[in-house]
Formats: sequence, structure tokens, C-alpha cells
Amino acid sequence: MNDKKNPALTKEGNPVYSSTDTSKVKITDEDWKKILPADVYSIARQKGTERPWSSKLENFYETGTYYCAACGNALFKSDTKFESGCGWPSFYEPISKTSIIYTPDNSHGMKRTEVQCGRCEAHLGHVFDDGPPPTGLRYCINGVVLDFEKAKEAEKKYKEKPREQ
Ligand SMILES: [Zn+2]
Repeated sequence: MNDKKNPALTKEGNPVYSSTDTSKVKITDEDWKKILPADVYSIARQKGTERPWSSKLENFYETGTYYCAACGNALFKSDTKFESGCGWPSFYEPISKTSIIYTPDNSHGMKRTEVQCGRCEAHLGHVFDDGPPPTGLRYCINGVVLDFEKAKEAEKKYKEKPREQ
């Protein structure tokens, strides 16, 4: 889904960051280290985990879109975010099928499914099957690797109208 009303997001000092370029990002770990802030690098590229309840996005319910903080890929819409009580921003559905990559993760003696950015393969978090309807899934995501872009006022009004489908 391309949102033509929003200009492409960019980030200073990060040449791969784009909310409109969907081509895969393949750069070396060395290069990631140069262009990402230390906290984003440690989670996105080294599969770190932020402390629970530490994200300002955890209790945050503005209308808009969440993007990968490493590459600008759109990941989640605010209307799929829910209060899971797990301490990390949680969503029940990604913005599209290709926005996320799923990988089995058997580390730490647990059977989990890791979720990564579909464009740059940044580690985002894990997905569990104890989420709310309609998907029953809980995407448990590190807030450090999410950028939030508020929806424009006009779009918000449009969304408040009853859906015609
Ligand atoms: Zn990414």
C-alpha cells in the first residue's frame, strides 16, 4: 500500500532509509554499524532485546504508521496495535505479507518465531499465537527499532467515516 499523500521518509546519515524504496537492503555489518545509532544497531543487527516497559511506544496510541528504524520499511498500522501487557509494543497484524520475514528461533531453550524486517532483515522481535482476533497473533516488537509517523489530519477524518466494504 503506497500512501501518495505522505512524502517519502528519510533519515539523515542513513542512505538506505526510505519509506518508498522497496528494494532489499544488503549492506555489510560494518556499514550498519556506521549508519545506525548504537541502540538500534544492537537490536536490529545483533538481535538484542530492549528492557520491558522501556519503550515510549509501549503505551502509545496515536493514529499512524510504524516503520523499521533501520531502513524505513512500513511494518505496522496503529489500528492493529493493542495493549498486551507484555512490556513491548504489540500488534496483531503486519501492514502487508512481505513487510515481515519469519524465522524459527530456538535460542534460550524456547521455541519461538523471530520476526525480521522484510526489507533489511533487521531483528524486530517475536510473534506468538496468543494475540487477539482477527489473527490471534501477537507481534511483540522492540520499540527501539520502530519509527512512528503520525497520520495526516485529513486521513484521520477519512478513517473515522464508516467503511464501505
Ligand atoms: Zn528494515
